[in-house]
Order: sequence, then structure tokens, then C-alpha cells
Amino acid sequence: MQYRILGRTALRVSVIGFGGIPIWGDTSVFQYGCVDEETAAKVINRALDLGVNFIDTARIYGQSEVRIGKVMRRRRKECYLATKVMRRGYREGLEDVEKSLTNLQTDYIDLYQIHYVNDTDTLRRIMARDGALRALKEKRKEGKIGFIGITGHEPKLLMKAIKTGEFDTIQAVYNLNNLEAARELFPLARRENIGVIVMKPLAGAILVPPLEMMTELKEEDRTLIGELKESAFPTTAMAAIKFAMDNEAVSTVIPGMGSITNVEEDVAVGRTTAPLPKPLKEKLIRGAKKLGTGYCRSCGYCLPCSQGINIPDIFRFEGYYSRYGLKEWARQQYAELPVKAESCVQCEDCLPRCPYNIPIMEKMKKAAKILSP
Ligand code: SF4
Ligand code: SF4
Repeated sequence: MQYRILGRTALRVSVIGFGGIPIWGDTSVFQYGCVDEETAAKVINRALDLGVNFIDTARIYGQSEVRIGKVMRRRRKECYLATKVMRRGYREGLEDVEKSLTNLQTDYIDLYQIHYVNDTDTLRRIMARDGALRALKEKRKEGKIGFIGITGHEPKLLMKAIKTGEFDTIQAVYNLNNLEAARELFPLARRENIGVIVMKPLAGAILVPPLEMMTELKEEDRTLIGELKESAFPTTAMAAIKFAMDNEAVSTVIPGMGSITNVEEDVAVGRTTAPLPKPLKEKLIRGAKKLGTGYCRSCGYCLPCSQGINIPDIFRFEGYYSRYGLKEWARQQYAELPVKAESCVQCEDCLPRCPYNIPIMEKMKKAAKILSP
């Protein structure tokens, strides 16, 4: 595993970090790929065994903090812990840090981030006298947290946050389908010595089809196909993680880890030093561009649905059906969901919660049409 310095925190973090969403544990939120407690413990332990020393979670990720805490009882000294507060106020900030400390079974959290700050009003709110930032600063003074970070989906907003001088790290979206952060945000972070954590390297599990499908490799590309199969990153997911890791401003990439296979593949990428071959990189970027921007990123922020629909799971199956032609597989997975797309009553509750303005209700109708028997 390679290690890099996380900006001005000076923490030496593994270039592959542990993304804590898949161990969420609440199947009412994520049914597909949501692992049980025993598996979660095995996955976390395996990651630590293989040199992953940066674990990222959040207060809102269901059971994730608690599950990590159970492993931390024995292995706290082997890693840096990062979590996040979603609530915006001072009192809530104080409460959330204490709750995280209890959940994570530790008396110290290395990095506490303010979660999901995407507009100027929210930035103002968290930085106000009665905002969450003051709570985190007090907890830092008390020695309960080490550093303060901010996470968000809008590079311009994160640039504003960096300029306040209050944050030691940023956590931003960067992947083959979304290169925006690399244009101005990452160079600014580098200049200011701010640690860069990359979330969504697989764009919410969209960058997972076979390489041939993703890159539209043709018969004449067979040399490249052969090279890829023999290379250190023979899958689209591995190549996508490598792509994010290759950016020099990036300290750590945190793919969600929900299985031992995930961990082992991700760590294998973290061991590679040579950059992604240029022809492959270009083909992947072209392939990812064709996916457009109107796809669900599986972030779960739209939940809960008033009818108990697993919105991200349904859109994942809808995407596999229409984008990659995995029709039978998608229908089978969909059939196992307890609440189907047909249950959508078009109440609109979820719409304002989606940071990507996905037309959830229309997509729900489409999903019902193609996935139902
Ligand atoms: S519009 Fe449909 S998917 Fe969204 S919350 Fe309402 S019922 Fe759920
Ligand atoms: S619909 Fe939007 S909020 Fe819901 S999981 Fe997808 S991207 Fe996230």
C-alpha cells in the first residue's frame, strides 16, 4: 500500500481509504449490497490487515459508525478515523461529536468533517456563531478531535470553504465521469496544503461494467484488451480508482467497501505505482462521458421515501437494464425488493433532497415499466 500526506494535517494516510457507506446496515435504506454485521467486521478487519489506515464514515450512515467502533475496540491504534456531522447547528454539532465518540468506541477522532455543504447559505450557517463549526473547534480544543474537514459535491463551494482558512481537508467528488474538481479545486487545495479526500471514485457504482463494454474496445484493440487483462487493474472499477489516485493532489481515495473482494481489489490498486496507461485512460474518460450526468449516484440523500421505496437500489437496477443491457439480471434483483417502483405515489418529498436534481418521479415510472414482470 502506498501512503500520502493528508495536507496540513500531516497524517500519513493510505492512498486507498475505507468508504463506510456499504456497511450502513439498514436495509430500509440500502437493500442491495448492504452487508450484515459479521461481514462488516470481516471487511473492516481485512482492510486494516492489508494496510488501509484511513477509515471514513458519517453520523448519518446508519450502523456504520457503530460497526466500525466494534472493531476499534481492539484495533484503534492502527488507523485514522474520519466521520461527519450533517446537522448544522452548534448544539447539534456538540451532540454529534459525543455520539460519534461513543459509537466509534474511542476518545479521539482524527478528522471530523462537516457533511454535504453545497451552497453559500449552508456554508454561512455552519460558520455562524451558533453553527456546527464552532462546536467542532471547541471539541478540537478539548482534544476530542484532531482536525476539521468539509465535504461537498460542488467544487466552487469547496473553494470558498478553503479560502476561509477554517478547514484542514476537503472531501470532493472526482471520477472518470466527473473531472470538474481537478480543474481549479485540486490545484487550490495543493497550493493551500489542504488534504484532498476523493469520494465517489466509482460515481455511485456506475463505473462497474466490464472494461470492454465501458471502453467500447473493438477487435482492433485486442492488444489493449490483452494488456488490460494482464495488468494490475483488469476491471473498470479498479481502473476508475486508479484514475482518481493518479491525480497528485489527491491524498486518499475512499471507495465504499462492502466485501472482502472489494477490499482486496482496491488495495491491489493502491499498491500500483505506474499510472494508468494513457490509451486506456482516454478510452475510459470517453466511455464515462457517454453515461451523461443524469444518473443516480446512490448517495441515499433522497431517502427516506414516504412509501419505503429504496430509490437508489431501484435506479441501480434500472441503470443496469437500460445502460448495460443486463436485463434478466436487473429484473431478478428488482423482483427481490420488498417495495417496488409501482408504489411511488408521486408525492415529491424526495425531489428537493437529491443534490443531482434527478427526476426521481419520472425515473420511477420508467423503472416500473421496464423492471416489472
Ligand atoms: S415521489 Fe415517489 S419515490 Fe419520491 S418520496 Fe414520494 S413516493 Fe417515494
Ligand atoms: S436519486 Fe439523487 S439523492 Fe437519491 S440516491 Fe440517487 S443521486 Fe442520491
